[in-house]
Amino acid sequence: MRQLVLTVDVEVRGDGSGSVEGLVVRPMRRLLEVARRDGKVVTWFVDALGFERMEREGLPKRSPLEALTQLLREAVAAGDEVGLHLHPQWRLARPGMFGWRARGTDVLSDRDADLVDPGVAWIVGACGRSPTCFRAGGLGPLPVAVLEALGSAGVLVDSSVAPGRSPWLRAPVDRPSWNFQTNPSRPEAGPFVELPIAVGAVTARGHWPGRLATAWGVRRWRPRVAGPALLDAARYAASDLAAVADARPVGPVVAIAHTKTWTERATREVAAFWTGRPTLTVTKAAGL
Ligand SMILES: [Zn+2]
Repeated sequence: MRQLVLTVDVEVRGDGSGSVEGLVVRPMRRLLEVARRDGKVVTWFVDALGFERMEREGLPKRSPLEALTQLLREAVAAGDEVGLHLHPQWRLARPGMFGWRARGTDVLSDRDADLVDPGVAWIVGACGRSPTCFRAGGLGPLPVAVLEALGSAGVLVDSSVAPGRSPWLRAPVDRPSWNFQTNPSRPEAGPFVELPIAVGAVTARGHWPGRLATAWGVRRWRPRVAGPALLDAARYAASDLAAVADARPVGPVVAIAHTKTWTERATREVAAFWTGRPTLTVTKAAGL
């Protein structure tokens, strides 16, 4: 049975809206409970810039952010990993009458290199440990200047590549990890390690993900989904997660989830999925 690397993106909605309590703190607390009960570890990719902005501007009220930092400390103490996740739209975010509004693209560009250090600093302040792994906002490209800033901050493991999905169409589909120099989808000698997110084929019947997603009320029926779908632990039944994970030829399998789409149903499915399956964190799985 493949080892499992469960990664969870810790964030509110992409436009900055949504409650930290409802979309971050409560789902994270629930998943932590189940992970500790079952003796599993999780890697939390924290959208640090968003929380840093909220904290600086005093919105929302401080208490949910304090609850979040408490949960992150508990997670690290129990063997989980906290990685950096960066959404550049927080650069132009403004607090409004009805909460935050973030603007612009979630795709990183070279000029976003200056966001790395504040993001790292927020995580160190929150959980007392410097991150060593990274995920790009929107699973988008990782510009060289951002990569250099990450390297300088000691962040050498990336998990942004979803092989076969744009912009990662040329990434290897059947390798659990590889080293790279400047392009995370091109294996070559270099200081960085890519640990790609697993993808699975969607059948022509629309059986995966359409039927399940509809049953869960997460999305409307999407019968014409084509191409590889992310191994998303918040959206699929345990049997479908296991089918994709066990079809991988070698090595650890990286699954993704988001606190903002987490449901009680997902809690049950993930608990069934990881039963009997060893878990490890991103940086450990990368061999660092
Ligand atoms: Zn994100």
